[in-house]
Amino acid sequence: MTTTGQTVYLNGEYLPLEQARVPVLDRGFIFGDGIYEVVPAYNGRLFRWPQHLARLERSLAKVGIVNPFDRNGWSAIVGELIGRHPWRDQFVYLHVTRGVARRDHGFPAGVKPTVFAMASELQPPPLAQRTEGVAAITLPDERWLHCDIKSISLLGNVLARQAALDRGALECVMFRDGWLTEGSASNVWVVRDGRVLGPPPDHLILEGIRVGLMGELCAASGIECETRRILREEVFAADELLITSATKEVLAITRLDGRAVGSGRPGPVWSQLYDAYQRAKTA
Ligand code: PMP
Repeated sequence: MTTTGQTVYLNGEYLPLEQARVPVLDRGFIFGDGIYEVVPAYNGRLFRWPQHLARLERSLAKVGIVNPFDRNGWSAIVGELIGRHPWRDQFVYLHVTRGVARRDHGFPAGVKPTVFAMASELQPPPLAQRTEGVAAITLPDERWLHCDIKSISLLGNVLARQAALDRGALECVMFRDGWLTEGSASNVWVVRDGRVLGPPPDHLILEGIRVGLMGELCAASGIECETRRILREEVFAADELLITSATKEVLAITRLDGRAVGSGRPGPVWSQLYDAYQRAKTA
């Protein structure tokens, strides 16, 4: 096995990634019964940590897993992991499952949640993705109806992303009954006549931490930003299409199902929001 040099956190211990082991009866392994979070850190400083922490708390509450730590406890683990690695920019993956128990669907009594956390190097999206934009495909959204929970059960997202990769694209933009939901691992934004539109953060999408941030960046850049349901036809008629996520920041989709989006180049609204995002990272 190759060593990554990564130290991870598992149930109270810091240990090399290669030595971290979870019992096969962990409900994360058996049922996908758990939640996760991904938070970036730039130059050693966590970005939007209170928002990520609040979403972690919401995800745990929604699936009925007792939060194993208070805010200081989570901050200590995340701070320790970042401090142990040399990379300038990092992202921390946090993962909580319901714990280890005899296989039975109902919640087990008296079981401690499994807590895993890992820091990795965070590279900005490659230059080509920023200058050319990225390709995406579209598919019906075939996931469950609690997409607001950042669940580790990601099979629907995994299949959607792989379908995109199989067709030489980076992301899959999904629609439910003809309405835009989100990407396989990103939020999707439509730009029309200089305005940014995003779908409402209801149970059909994950409310990305960059959803709130986009609102702020638009306001600071004098760009109108509206939240409303968006038809598939509006996505195909967009002047610009954008995706946001912790690791992709803000990227332009310039090809959708093989067709050019708008001019086929990253547009002026993307450019303004990209610059605003870079400023926010270092503010
Ligand atoms: N939707 C889905 C399905 C995702 O996996 C992600 C990435 N975690 C996002 C949206 C974007 O969320 P964030 O801005 O918090 O990275």
